[in-house]
Amino acid sequence: MTRAERARYLADRYPAAREALEFYGQVADFQGDWRELRDLVKRIGPPILRDAAQRLTPERIEQEPRGFFARVLARQDPPVARTAVMNECPKCGHPPQCAALRPEGDGSAFHLVCGLCRHQWPFPRALCTVCGEIEEERLVYYAIEGVSHIQTRVCDTCGKYLHVIHLGKDPLAIPDVDEIAVLPMDVWAAEQGFEKIYPNLIGI
Ligand SMILES: [Zn+2]
Ligand SMILES: [Zn+2]
Repeated sequence: MTRAERARYLADRYPAAREALEFYGQVADFQGDWRELRDLVKRIGPPILRDAAQRLTPERIEQEPRGFFARVLARQDPPVARTAVMNECPKCGHPPQCAALRPEGDGSAFHLVCGLCRHQWPFPRALCTVCGEIEEERLVYYAIEGVSHIQTRVCDTCGKYLHVIHLGKDPLAIPDVDEIAVLPMDVWAAEQGFEKIYPNLIGI
């Protein structure tokens, strides 16, 4: 299943996140130059990105290396990381976007998922991915009713959270796509004053 197909499937199942999923499905596998991406965003992007698309010039892409357009375009050729440090992607150095739990042997293995190149790498499950908290009772899991394969883990010490996608419960899940399905959880977390480990491609 491609990212676009998965996004369409989830969009039908989780109407609260439909618009965001449909848009992410279109840009996640985007291959083309910045003009085509700009035209796509002008057509179907959320208002904030449509405004950015109107003002887009080649200089602006270079000036905003962490901006939406630069990040989508960089996907095709992510920079090579020198060393793996803390929670950063060992391949490209970008912060993680979410986590995945993969069945392995009798249990499951915890992996972080890069927000840029989507590489997945193992990380200690018992550790806050931001501040390193290891007290079990300070790492609290929440879930939305009706979404059984995604949990949101909040660290009470640093206030950061990330979504954890359980591939054992849905083997077809694609972590960076599926985490958008729990958009209402991001809204709730923001209301509680929690901050996401790193915003995804569409700024959520
Ligand atoms: Zn990466
Ligand atoms: Zn923490």
